[in-house]
Amino acid sequence: MLVAEKTISFEQVSLLYDRAADRLGMPQGIRQMLREPWRELQVQVPVRMDDGRIEVFAGYRVQHNGARGPYKGGVRFHPDADLEEVRALAALMTWKTTLLDLPFGGSKGSVQCDPSSLSNGELNRLTRRYTLNIEHLLAPNRDIPAPDLGTNAQTMAWMMDAYGQLHGHTPAIVTGKPVEMGGSLGREAATGRGVSFLLEEAAKALRLSHVDATVVVQGCGNVGSWTARLVDELGYKVVAISNLEGGVYNAKGLKLSHMTENRPAGSGLSGLPNGDFITNSELLELDCDVLIPAAIDNVITEENAPNVRASRILEAANHPLTPEADDILAQRGTVVLPDILVNAGGVVVSYFEWSQNLQEFRWEEDRVNQELRKKMSTAFQAINRRSLADKTTYREAAFDIAVERVARAVELRGFV
Ligand code: GLU
Repeated sequence: MLVAEKTISFEQVSLLYDRAADRLGMPQGIRQMLREPWRELQVQVPVRMDDGRIEVFAGYRVQHNGARGPYKGGVRFHPDADLEEVRALAALMTWKTTLLDLPFGGSKGSVQCDPSSLSNGELNRLTRRYTLNIEHLLAPNRDIPAPDLGTNAQTMAWMMDAYGQLHGHTPAIVTGKPVEMGGSLGREAATGRGVSFLLEEAAKALRLSHVDATVVVQGCGNVGSWTARLVDELGYKVVAISNLEGGVYNAKGLKLSHMTENRPAGSGLSGLPNGDFITNSELLELDCDVLIPAAIDNVITEENAPNVRASRILEAANHPLTPEADDILAQRGTVVLPDILVNAGGVVVSYFEWSQNLQEFRWEEDRVNQELRKKMSTAFQAINRRSLADKTTYREAAFDIAVERVARAVELRGFV
């Protein structure tokens, strides 16, 4: 099974922030403002189950920083969800939206539940109750949720409907909606497409060529399956991919065209392409040119980092490397492109969706993808320049740029 050692902690993300604040010589007061979340809410989510019982779930919404615009970030439904995790993920959203220069801050929400064990009706009721209980924090100009682990376009349609019962039709209240409900064309594939655009943009700096480079993808939910398919289309040889149960490996390259996305959890290895069985831990240690962890957080730790043989890592999941693993890999010269850049395609197209909703004007998919490509390449070039100038890793450069921008916004607002 694919399980994290322990879920991401706020301290892990704060460590990356603290190091940036040190490099930038940030004064104490503003340093603290940007470190801590602005506001946190924990709510009860009581749900009438199909058998008539009431079950009470814990729900959260954390707004980390809103200096650059409305709070923005996904909602995850996961058995391990807790306040600590959502706080860390909210902070990552602040740095991600800022790095991509979107007019948003950062937030995140979650409900501690196992969505695979709930019926459709139960999920619908849970989503509505959660939405109503955090509704006073939300608005198109305040905080805009989106899908994340365990949630999808249907979840967003329910959230939009519950919010609309109080406020009238408000599509800009959530992003990642079904296209029929005002969702953007291209949003479903956006995170994976962003990863593939980034790989194209960064290939030269990473000394990679699609002609002979091998790629390993961990995870095949929305992000992993689209990433694998689109990277394969670029001509890279995807030699391994996995899901919760394990993975498949073929040194000659997997045939990905039959892969269906979003198989229900627990569907085992069926649906994966043909290849030799490998475990998720073996997959992370495969000899390859590019490793793309695209599942959950903290899968590369100080224990397995010394065995990772890939020379470049693209973090398509949020926080797949612990800070200890990151340090070990940096010392060994492994090039890591950080999550707040690599997986930003989702929130970039969320921004396009929100803009389309506010304008009440739908863009064609080509335009969405072209604008996404521009955003990904501008962000990569900024990080590349910064890391060359300051002799830092890509992750350090990404945090330095983002932290500097948020600090500047706080200063300009003059609220300190
Ligand atoms: N959940 C995605 C992320 O972690 C998308 C967030 C959004 O679109 O607001 O970036």
